[in-house]
Amino acid sequence: MKRFFLIIFLLFGIQMLSAQESPKLKFEDKHVCLNCGMKTDQAPNWEQKITTTDGHNFYFDGARCMFRILLDSTKTPANLDQILVKDYYTLEYFDAREAYYVTGSDVLGPMGNELIPFKTEAAAKEFFKDHKGMQIIRFKDVDIALIKKLAGKMHMH
Ligand SMILES: [Zn+2]
Repeated sequence: MKRFFLIIFLLFGIQMLSAQESPKLKFEDKHVCLNCGMKTDQAPNWEQKITTTDGHNFYFDGARCMFRILLDSTKTPANLDQILVKDYYTLEYFDAREAYYVTGSDVLGPMGNELIPFKTEAAAKEFFKDHKGMQIIRFKDVDIALIKKLAGKMHMH
């Protein structure tokens, strides 16, 4: 009986998700930040992206904007597939969940203070030391409080 309700719930849930053709989808595949609307190909080194299961890309002009969307389930595309960030040194895309992010450093992105992604912990530590980082944080530990803190710090420059 429990299983039956679960199936009903899942079917209903999937229907809800597919019906949710949100206006945010107009940014699909364009190099425009899904969060703030700024062009992302003007600063390609900072460009991050998420992909959807139907093969489209949504771009961001920094990891901070990306987390703003990922931490808000009402804004995250329902058919989210991969979350990819660029290693600051190599500029190669890799899985955002595996990244080491340096926050609060003296290197600013187009949107100011950033979470700067690195593929290896060693690279993150080196950058942290060279650029006066505030902390090194993993994907799962990033929360909206941190994002707001980084956004707020922007006005002090
Ligand atoms: Zn943005």
